[in-house]
Amino acid sequence: MTTAQEVVSYAKSKLNQKVTVPTNPYGGQCVAFIDHIVQHFSDKNLAYTNAIDCLKKAKSQGLEVIYNNPNDVNLIPKSGDFFVMSSVASDGVDYGHIGVVVSADTRGMTTLEQNIDGYSDNNRNGINDQLEIGGGGYVRNNKRSYAGVTGWFRLPYDNKTGAINHNGEIYSSLTTHFNPNVMYSNLSKGVTGYSRMTIDRIVIHHNMTTDKNIAMQTWYESSKNWTSAHYEIADNEIWGCVGEQYSAFHSGDSTMNRRSIGIEHVNSTGAPGWKISEASYKSSAKLIVDICKRYKIPIDAKHIIPHKQVSATECPGGIDMNKLIKMAQDLSKGVTTTTKPAAKPTTFRVKVSVTDLNIRKSPSLKAGKNGVVKPGVYTITETKSADGYEWGKLKSGAGWIALKYTSKL
Ligand SMILES: [Zn+2]
Repeated sequence: MTTAQEVVSYAKSKLNQKVTVPTNPYGGQCVAFIDHIVQHFSDKNLAYTNAIDCLKKAKSQGLEVIYNNPNDVNLIPKSGDFFVMSSVASDGVDYGHIGVVVSADTRGMTTLEQNIDGYSDNNRNGINDQLEIGGGGYVRNNKRSYAGVTGWFRLPYDNKTGAINHNGEIYSSLTTHFNPNVMYSNLSKGVTGYSRMTIDRIVIHHNMTTDKNIAMQTWYESSKNWTSAHYEIADNEIWGCVGEQYSAFHSGDSTMNRRSIGIEHVNSTGAPGWKISEASYKSSAKLIVDICKRYKIPIDAKHIIPHKQVSATECPGGIDMNKLIKMAQDLSKGVTTTTKPAAKPTTFRVKVSVTDLNIRKSPSLKAGKNGVVKPGVYTITETKSADGYEWGKLKSGAGWIALKYTSKL
């Protein structure tokens, strides 16, 4: 199972190395680094594409592509995404540039990139490595703003739920936006004795406003309100506010704050109803399922509780707790039933490093040849034993290869 964290840690393991792919003769190009990662984790590839064309290429391969919108400052990539930007080379051509996003906020991102400079002379022969076969640069850490960034794409993660690390803070990977302001938590100055306990409760709140920004502003340390929450739900948006590993100040009870995650919801109507939208119910149910799964919290009324059960308040206003819990329960059951059909053929990927591995029309040494496979990563959809070999059927339909000469990924 591939997760964004795996992609980032794999990319980090390549730091200070020249990463290449057999299909790119120009060595350590920025694209070669990303192509290598894409091939390592999937059966897709960028196959000798200029960086500037990688969004198009990713889209044509069925990968999720997000185009940057400079007017939407909150639209930012996630950890594990591959950003693509415009970059004009010395010959005046915009070949673009590409890298891996390690973390991102509204101001910019930390990245891992190969061949950042466009000029390098790592073998010190006085010739720009870019112009040499097998040239290129090395993988380095970098920081960037979003200037010139045209968009980003991501691999098809098998499981969209799970935790992500955003600038050192733990959030659900369902988080769509991150609020970059410092909010109240047990890290705040003057706070003692608020350390985190085992998380076994989710406390549900409403904002008492239909404006999510006004709601979130009240949690900033600068507001001096001494309140905060981990998440803000606003229709289809799930805002990360306080990392889950920290206590937020939302329930009015210090022990409950230490053992719970607080989810706030923007209202769709004002007093006296204080309702929330259907979209907010859906986002909230999704988030609840993800949190409960990760902390092994039962999805029931004992563990998903309204604020007013903890302290004297009308919160969470018009939020129907029974409805929300039922939606989360149904969703979590739906997740388990859709993953049930395990009768699907088991496919796996192998790496071919040799250059003369024959493709056979059928799984036998006597079968006719259908060329050779190039070094790279291939998906095997079926296996058979014959003539003393274990054979694997190539997903491309080209034929069968002897798995003895490959390594399983
Ligand atoms: Zn509340």
